[in-house]
Amino acid sequence: MTTEASRLLYERACRVTPGGVNSPVRSMRQVRPYPLFAERGEGAYVVDADGKRYVDLLCSWGPLILGHGHPAVVTAIKEQAERALTFGIASRLEVELAELVTAALPAVDEVRFVSSGTEATMSAIRLARAFTGRDAIVKFAGCYHGHVDALLARAGSGAALSALPVSPGVPVKVATDTIVLPYNDLAAVEQAFAERGGDIAAVIVEPIAANMGVVPPAESYLAGLRRVTRRHGALLIFDEVITGFRVGYSGAQGLFGLDPDLTCLGKVIGGGLPVGAYGGRREIMERIAPQGDVYQAGTLSGSPIAMAAGLAQLRELGGDPGAYKRLAALGETLEGELRQAAAAAGVACTVQGAPGILSAFFCEGPVRSQADTERNQIARYRAFWKSMAESGVLLPPAANEAIFPSLALGERELGIIRAALPAAFAAAATAD
Ligand SMILES: *Cc1c(COP(=O)(O)O)cnc(C)c1O
Repeated sequence: MTTEASRLLYERACRVTPGGVNSPVRSMRQVRPYPLFAERGEGAYVVDADGKRYVDLLCSWGPLILGHGHPAVVTAIKEQAERALTFGIASRLEVELAELVTAALPAVDEVRFVSSGTEATMSAIRLARAFTGRDAIVKFAGCYHGHVDALLARAGSGAALSALPVSPGVPVKVATDTIVLPYNDLAAVEQAFAERGGDIAAVIVEPIAANMGVVPPAESYLAGLRRVTRRHGALLIFDEVITGFRVGYSGAQGLFGLDPDLTCLGKVIGGGLPVGAYGGRREIMERIAPQGDVYQAGTLSGSPIAMAAGLAQLRELGGDPGAYKRLAALGETLEGELRQAAAAAGVACTVQGAPGILSAFFCEGPVRSQADTERNQIARYRAFWKSMAESGVLLPPAANEAIFPSLALGERELGIIRAALPAAFAAAATAD
């Protein structure tokens, strides 16, 4: 691989940016010695600084559901840029995107826009604490909700329900109010509520976990969370930053027919620009300032350019009755190709997914929780990733992450992927 330009950019970046990147996973440390630097996107492809083209199965970790440079999104951004970049006062597009989101998600009466998924979960938790008058939060190991202090927590040792910080700089005091439980284990949730139910403000969950690889919820797990939280007067927060407008137009809550109290959104709703959102029942959302007493604000919140991009992408998706069927079918095709090629190469590989997202774990399945993901053989993923990259396919640069197909994938790109798989699984097979 000729990656001279990326290497030189990396050397420059390291002098001026911690680790040379603005988000840790971009270091690509699990799969290569230094990061790839991207230069441009073209539909289903991303082109790196050396001009090498890859079929993009990362899609910026999900936002680019229509692929790169979709004309509707780009035109909307250009037209808005000529009208104004930002006002710092209210504008029409915020109303239009809020109307679209609340129409798509029946559980969301009102929505507040922020600029990232992290801000959305942080604000939802503050609101849940204010609304319930309680401090404790339940989260699940392997679910990621952004770099919010209270959510950068891992389970404490033994039977203690209090979590420990996963990063220096997160006060132990803050993690103490977080309870970390295994995903897909309803009995653990019932037990935690039996012990500390009166303290628990909310349960926050990725309704389809996609930050430990894709781990779908067990049958009736989410309905169980809904039942237990309701019984104990705690709020149920669905973090749909990945699944919102990806697994379907109504997200995972639409897929499973559930009504969380609060919903967090990000990624797809910004059309590739930085947007997050949290919303839910009117009675809860009314507590947010200026209507209520819970403070939350943002200078660039509801950025007209970002709203325009989000609206254009969501209107494209909402206006095309076949869009989500095609995306789900693409995901299923990729799952099938991966399974078949792994079997042909005799490599133990568990492929699992949900509509529009999927993962390949290099271990026996099923993978139902973070503990199971620890069996994933990273050396095998590294060899697989490298071989795929050499054949012109960009996968997530870390094991235990989701693959994100876009609607820009066509027969030609599926052909490139199909042709690349045998060599990649052969490389994985000998990579122990
Ligand atoms: C990406 C992600 C976040 C954080 O969003 P940022 O925009 O990176 O802050 C939160 N929750 C989930 C489920 C995510 O996948």
